[in-house]
Amino acid sequence: MIIMKFGGSSVADEQKINNVAEIVKARAAENPVVVVSALGGVTDSLLKAAKLAQSSDWKEAAQKVISRHRNVLHSLRLESSMLDEDISELENTLSAISSKKQLSRSALDLVASFGERMSSKIVAACIRSKGMKCAAYNAYDIGMVTDSNFGNADILPETYGAIRRELSRIGKGTIPVITGYIGKDRNGGITTLGRGGSYYTASIIGAAIGAEEIQIWTDVNGIMTADPNVVKDARNIKEISYQEEAELEFLGAKTLHPKGILPAMQHGIFVRVLNTMNTGDSGTKICNDIGEDSRVASITSRSGIDAIILLKGDMLSQETIPCTRPLAY
Ligand code: ASP
Ligand code: MG
Repeated sequence: MIIMKFGGSSVADEQKINNVAEIVKARAAENPVVVVSALGGVTDSLLKAAKLAQSSDWKEAAQKVISRHRNVLHSLRLESSMLDEDISELENTLSAISSKKQLSRSALDLVASFGERMSSKIVAACIRSKGMKCAAYNAYDIGMVTDSNFGNADILPETYGAIRRELSRIGKGTIPVITGYIGKDRNGGITTLGRGGSYYTASIIGAAIGAEEIQIWTDVNGIMTADPNVVKDARNIKEISYQEEAELEFLGAKTLHPKGILPAMQHGIFVRVLNTMNTGDSGTKICNDIGEDSRVASITSRSGIDAIILLKGDMLSQETIPCTRPLAY
């Protein structure tokens, strides 16, 4: 079994969703479990609508998100009423926030959850339209149990066993498309795992079922030696260790999620970062120590920092000290 995770930019419009469905179909023999993000930009729009609902008119903002999803359904010729329930629940939630004039962290997570709840249904239906057996699942219905730290929840220990059990019940030959980013706490409240959390979801599910590989599909050829927008001759990295990847995330590579790598690393599951626009490329493989200790794997940058102090050893405990004028480079 493999996990195939597609981020927001890979499912941003009908063409990209169609491409994702083709990629999944081409790998059907490997028993994929698909994890999806919301359509690119939708999480931001939903969070904005929730904030507007608290103080002013949210309807226009909500309508934009809703018509975007309806247009995608239309262009892909999918059942037009497929998202009706989610859409009315979203509208009711926003309307309740608006009448209370109060936005709790749990209500914010509830609103954000609709992005993945809708994208998973669209992607599953698109895969089905290509003749495959496929069904959408909310992660919390297949065992994703979290604490109640809304906005940045973490999984509870029972999650791994529950996911393994629930996924084994899904008929062989049916491709599950699972919501990234969201879970439920023990009281049944919907939670989110923090921005970029679909990667964490993919890693958790991969670890739970002992997947052969967790594939993180993006729109670049894997992890690069530097930000190609800053460094012209940045190259692709073929292999990188879990530790190095974790350091890159911590240091601001922005590709993945800060905790995303941990479940894969702890359970020894390979992660591969792949390109939806260049499926023939082998991307970047993230695996155990690749034994090239002395090499610099990649350089990341954060803006607004003038001085950098380099520390030896475990870079996860690195310090950057912001200051008003440059001290040293
Ligand atoms: N949709 C969520 C976000 O934009 C989760 C994700 O994309 O991984 O942060
Ligand atoms: Mg996103």
